[in-house]
Amino acid sequence: MTSSQNSDSYVLRGTAAGGTLRFVGIDATKIVEDARLRHDLSKTATAALGRTLAASALLAVVLGKKTDSRVTLRLEGGGPVGWIVAEGSTDGSVRGYVRQPGADLPLRESDGKLDVSGIVGTEGELAVTRLLDNGEPYTGSVDLVSGEIAEDVSMYLGVSEQIPNAVLLGVYEEGGRVAHAGGLLVQAMPGVTDETLGKLEANIRAMGQITDNLRRGSLMEAMHRAAEGLELLLAAEAQAARFQCRCSREKASDSLKFFNAEERQEMMDAGGQEIVCHWCGEHYQISPEEIAALGAGPERAKA
Ligand SMILES: [Zn+2]
Repeated sequence: MTSSQNSDSYVLRGTAAGGTLRFVGIDATKIVEDARLRHDLSKTATAALGRTLAASALLAVVLGKKTDSRVTLRLEGGGPVGWIVAEGSTDGSVRGYVRQPGADLPLRESDGKLDVSGIVGTEGELAVTRLLDNGEPYTGSVDLVSGEIAEDVSMYLGVSEQIPNAVLLGVYEEGGRVAHAGGLLVQAMPGVTDETLGKLEANIRAMGQITDNLRRGSLMEAMHRAAEGLELLLAAEAQAARFQCRCSREKASDSLKFFNAEERQEMMDAGGQEIVCHWCGEHYQISPEEIAALGAGPERAKA
């Protein structure tokens, strides 16, 4: 057993087969455990959001152009968890939430695994939003193929971004907490040979689930297994990654500017107002004094 559940999450990048394959991997154990605790997620919801969080970090690296490019994934498949949203950034920060954190399903009878596709559902789509070079947001989407998330993300990259790829995602729960979570994304670059793709496919088939690999060893070992015989060159530095929201007490308080004077007076009379960030579950208790300090008129009147 490794002690990865106690250390921070990180991203590893590399290339193989003379630069014709690009590898991005994430050990997201700490990120997913943080998400579970913040949102009080059920086991199956933890797996579903955890896979999506890992995918958002990997897609940010593959699709992001700048050092702080963000990519947002939104999955909605009609299952009991409702929608799932995750946002990853090339700076290693990740955040996300689900509509119904308490939704859960029994282990799947066929293989005894967490029923992620059951809780996500398969009647719906995966939408991915990112900023283009000109700063405009761009959203592409695909119909869900399995609701297991890795296949859906892979389909998105192939169809909507024209990027040949392989995606592995997994969350392994043990004793009520996240023991291992992570993902691996391999992108085929122009000039890749059929021989290289054949080797890659055989390696990935042989390695099985990403969580089994993370239970046996490190993310780096898993990536070397996926790239066996393909001369993987990893970047020397791992990039730290974490569950990190962009909310703040100031933003929470500012959000009350959208209420009119009468509504704000009611909040003050009630002893203040609690604001909960849906991205991270943080609670902000805004005092009557802070509400009074926001100013007189509602912001929306100016719009
Ligand atoms: Zn937040």
